[in-house]
Amino acid sequence: MPRKIEIFDTTLRDGEQTPGISLNVKEKLEIARQLEKLSVDVIEAGFPIASNGDFNAVKAIAENVKGPVITGLARANFKDIDRAAEALKAAERPRIHTFIASSPIHMKYKLKMTEEQVLEAAVAAVKRAKSFVEDVEFSAEDASRSDVEFLCRLFSAAIKAGATVINIPDTVGYTTPGEFGQLIKTIMERVPEIDKVKVSVHCHDDLGMAVANSLEAVIYGATQVECAVNGLGERAGNAALEEIVMALDTRKDFYQVEHGINTKQIYRTSKMVSTITGIFIQPNKAIVGANAFAHESGIHQHGVLTEKSTYEIMTPQSIGLTTNTLVLGKHSGRHAFAERLKEMGYELSQDELNKAFERFKDLADRKKEISDLDIEAIVEDQVMKLPQHIELECFQVSTGNKAIATATVRVNVNGKVVEEASTGDGPIDAIYKALERACNMNCKLVDYSIRSVTAGKDALGEVTVRVEKDGRTFLGRGLSIDIIEASAMAYTNAMNKTIWNNGYSKPREVD
Ligand SMILES: [Zn+2]
Repeated sequence: MPRKIEIFDTTLRDGEQTPGISLNVKEKLEIARQLEKLSVDVIEAGFPIASNGDFNAVKAIAENVKGPVITGLARANFKDIDRAAEALKAAERPRIHTFIASSPIHMKYKLKMTEEQVLEAAVAAVKRAKSFVEDVEFSAEDASRSDVEFLCRLFSAAIKAGATVINIPDTVGYTTPGEFGQLIKTIMERVPEIDKVKVSVHCHDDLGMAVANSLEAVIYGATQVECAVNGLGERAGNAALEEIVMALDTRKDFYQVEHGINTKQIYRTSKMVSTITGIFIQPNKAIVGANAFAHESGIHQHGVLTEKSTYEIMTPQSIGLTTNTLVLGKHSGRHAFAERLKEMGYELSQDELNKAFERFKDLADRKKEISDLDIEAIVEDQVMKLPQHIELECFQVSTGNKAIATATVRVNVNGKVVEEASTGDGPIDAIYKALERACNMNCKLVDYSIRSVTAGKDALGEVTVRVEKDGRTFLGRGLSIDIIEASAMAYTNAMNKTIWNNGYSKPREVD
């Protein structure tokens, strides 16, 4: 029987530490539900002590997502652990993940603790966690730069204290595949209790080796890999989940291990995470980039047409990428729309379906053919909608290369209709200023981007904005055939999120 490699997803914890990302509880829950469909083994839902938002997100996921193990992070102290236990209370399969640094440099400068003190704290933390849950993961932060003798002693003590998983992180992305493989091998040989627990790795991509390091660890006996969708995470990110899984899957002949991932959900998961976080995927990104399955050169095209395997080592279908583009139009009814959604893997409530269908009809009036990509964009936009404090009712813009751009907006702010006008540097600036005036709000626009969902003149435009308010960043999205409208919707969306902000997990006051 081949060994099974468990996939531990940390998109919602380490991934959320990506600069510029700030997710609210609803968004986190939506991603967690998709991770459940992807069949990950473990979801690291957050760092409960970090903020109330993070606590609430872990709690909501523990209550609503069944199937995968749900874990929350905690430093090696009772306060953190008790808070994590509280958040995980309702989980079907809870795990507490506690950590302490073990490298000389971290112990000396960050913790100001000796080896013996670190060892003692680790044992106490694992025991404390064990008093709440059966499943306890212990991580030695910065393990790859730690003294290996001490590391083995620390893991041995943690296992004796009750740890069920030991994690070996390359916290700063410093190691190389050869070196990391040897470290895993040494730990496997020198920690006597190691065969009683799962052995996990957590690699960062600072030198571009996170995936290679993780896979090397698998060869030497690791049974759990920690990774994030689209490789999100601190600094250069974590090992990319889709790359780890497809490498194990495509090169099963070499790695000789199994995994439990439903690879057909990879594309949808990647897309959803990219949409919700606003972090776009580079076109040449392995597995999920827009070009990953596109053959440009004539020789390649010819080869692939004659026999797919000449240049294609895996199929687009294996990650759930369908080539099915058409498909619905103006005359498609609710039934056809609902059927298509089902085929695409969406399960919407009746209310969500009604709203999505309304949006679909509206779009079908303005666009001839509606593809899966359009439907995906509409549904994701609709499902992610928060209760609206501010609603854009209508707007008018006049502009020209020799005229001063002027915008008038009518918005509904908490039930009260307000009209305002403003001039600006261009139509978008004018409309944003008018919106701020109408809502009596001051935001700072830090990022604006636009892209089309599909090709063609009547394509849906998707505008993403990042606004800053009170030191926090909020992401807003807007979707329309008209790019000025999409821009206004994106800004309104971001303003709504600044109001609805108690559900957010940042800022975090801990490392
Ligand atoms: Zn990390």
